[in-house]
Amino acid sequence: MSSPSKPGRTGAQNQEVFRRLPSVEELLLAPRVAALAPRATRGLLLEFVRATIDHCRARIKAEGWTVDDLERRIAAGEFLGEIEGRVAREERRGVVSVVNATGVVLHTGLGRAPVHPEAAEAMANAARGYCILEVERESGERNQRDDYLSDLLSRATGAEAGIAVNNCAAAVLLALQTFAGGGRDVIVSRGELVEIGGSFRMPSVMERAGVRLVEVGTTNRTHFPDYAAAVSEKSGLLLKVHASNYRVQGFTAEVGAKELGALGREHRVPSCYDLGSGLLELADSKPLSMLGDEPRVREAVASGIDVVLFSGDKLLGGPQAGLIVGSRERVDQLRKNPIYRAVRLDKVGLAGLERTLELYLSGRADEIPSRARMLVSAEELKPIAEELARQLGALNGISASVMADRSQPGSGTAPAVFLPTFVVRAQRAGESAAVLARRLRTGSPPVFARIQDDALLLDPRTLLAGDFERLVTAFKNLP
Ligand SMILES: *Cc1c(COP(=O)(O)O)cnc(C)c1O
Repeated sequence: MSSPSKPGRTGAQNQEVFRRLPSVEELLLAPRVAALAPRATRGLLLEFVRATIDHCRARIKAEGWTVDDLERRIAAGEFLGEIEGRVAREERRGVVSVVNATGVVLHTGLGRAPVHPEAAEAMANAARGYCILEVERESGERNQRDDYLSDLLSRATGAEAGIAVNNCAAAVLLALQTFAGGGRDVIVSRGELVEIGGSFRMPSVMERAGVRLVEVGTTNRTHFPDYAAAVSEKSGLLLKVHASNYRVQGFTAEVGAKELGALGREHRVPSCYDLGSGLLELADSKPLSMLGDEPRVREAVASGIDVVLFSGDKLLGGPQAGLIVGSRERVDQLRKNPIYRAVRLDKVGLAGLERTLELYLSGRADEIPSRARMLVSAEELKPIAEELARQLGALNGISASVMADRSQPGSGTAPAVFLPTFVVRAQRAGESAAVLARRLRTGSPPVFARIQDDALLLDPRTLLAGDFERLVTAFKNLP
């Protein structure tokens, strides 16, 4: 291997630099490091001191520092600064509340759907204390945790029964394994073998679920006879998957849930529709008509397909969950699978989901934050953007203007749909948009925004109660 140090530097010189490195003990005793004690445990400080020294060693090698280089950096307090920086970064890790100014309503990176405050309260209460989860009040006997949820799902979707699992990915796994585990055929269109974010690929999931994938049709066109020809005594499941995050346009054809359900009934093969997003529209709430042909849960159920799967935290606007609704017979089959026990929903999610569905059923669906943020019009957002631009523009070094732009539903939902909005285009003198964006992300409170043409775009569409003020505070706190 060739020497990593600068040409002309000898191994001996390099060794002398390493010898002059401060020791772990020295650094731990330095007043600036000792002062960090209230903010980090001793074990953590030790880890950061060691990591700082290792980092320094790597740089000595890579950059060929001389003894002078090292001494200069020690004198400037560079290593102490690095240790302080590591402590500060640690304090910002974990699930921390942020301001979403990206305009992406269901932002997977930022936790998808913010739940309704009443759902959040129900979740906090369930987490905080004991709750009725698997016990019958009248008799005191054990019962099923999602009896009530099943009733709510029936009323909301028109299905006979329903159950909830950890997320829609778990719902897919459970359905595949229940109906076709042990090597039975799952018949699915070539145009629907989707990959969802987070490396959830339909073919790989099928493999792991122990089912045999039988692809029918072509990427752009699949017809009823393609499915019909594939049905045999080895068929376990007829599967339809909503192409959530992409669109095949032009010369296309797909088979509807109704036809697929009928084919399944004729041959006594279960049928399943993985909707993903789960757009639930009830008569007494404003329809999210801007989402165009995004499939509706009630229509999918009414099609007569056996089971319908959808996420709790996409368009439904509830906590993370996977909902499975359908005929009582098929839902019971899913419930009896031991895998259900491994992927079922916890009490916190269940409490939030019950409250979310109650809001739908009492005609208050429009209050659910993700729906409300989708429904708010550009005209309503314009004065908010103007006020934000005025307040930010009054701060030192910030220039801000308002322009028309487009927000997005997000989470792989309706990728071709854009929602008209007005954004604040903000810039800081002498600073690139990328640097400003990073300062805001790591600032207090943290803010996430879009970048376009070297300017930061702040979209009021995704600001929740109190976020406007928090956003202005974040700008005031910029270093
Ligand atoms: C999003 C999605 C999933 C996965 O849902 P999660 O709740 O994120 O697990 C599965 N199938 C489809 C079609 C999806 O759109």
